[in-house]
Amino acid sequence: MAAVELTDLRKSFGTLDIIKGVDLAIDPGEFVVFVGPSGCGKSTLLRMIAGLEDITSGELRIGGEVMNGVDPSQRGIAMVFQSYALYPHMTVRENMGFALKFAGIARAEIDRRVDDAAGTLGLGALMDRKPKALSGGQRQRVAIGRAIVRDPKVFLFDEPLSNLDAELRVHMRVEIAKLHKRLQSTIIYVTHDQVEAMTLADKIVVLRSGIVEQVGRPLDLYDDPANMFVAGFIGSPK
Ligand code: ADP
Ligand code: MG
Repeated sequence: MAAVELTDLRKSFGTLDIIKGVDLAIDPGEFVVFVGPSGCGKSTLLRMIAGLEDITSGELRIGGEVMNGVDPSQRGIAMVFQSYALYPHMTVRENMGFALKFAGIARAEIDRRVDDAAGTLGLGALMDRKPKALSGGQRQRVAIGRAIVRDPKVFLFDEPLSNLDAELRVHMRVEIAKLHKRLQSTIIYVTHDQVEAMTLADKIVVLRSGIVEQVGRPLDLYDDPANMFVAGFIGSPK
């Protein structure tokens, strides 16, 4: 069974058709990267999967269950955004545990999960700090930690590294690859960075104007692009 399945998924904002019939099946444990130019609908598609945007038509399944209209908190997903959106007045530990507290999970279990994720992400020494006392990379780690503690079936990342400087971006890219290997989780990752897509993805989905141009393994897209658009996009790193 697919971990995530989109069937003729569509989204309009008023009279504007933004996502124009996307079909896609994502296997459990697969690292899938959505690429495409700015404005092609990557974030919108991710937000539809997360439940942050309504689905105009078509069907979304997560873990085999139809998720159209299901509350975001009930989808078994966790999303990491480009802006870290940490709570400034809370410590790292509190930031990471906050959503679990609201889900009614016991304190001891919250601490166990938070410590576990902190270990994975190398945050152990920073647990009592507030976000303003962290570097950009550390903040993004906390944001990822906040997702990990929820033990989601699917991680959604929307350009998580694009606010970081080039060196840190490369470092965090390696960290995310390790994380995927360790957790064996299903990941849908949006980026407009070709190198990030080529190095992280099991499968790349190339989007243009709300349509899937091609789906394939990175090297297959590179060697055998379906058209000039894909060739231009995959073949010419910025
Ligand atoms: P990407 O993430 O690929 O850069 P987006 O998914 O953010 O693209 O946006 C795709 C298109 O949808 C853009 O043209 C954008 O202006 C439009 N769009 C996104 N959100 C809204 C909205 N709430 N209302 C109207 N148009 C929107
Ligand atoms: Mg976007």
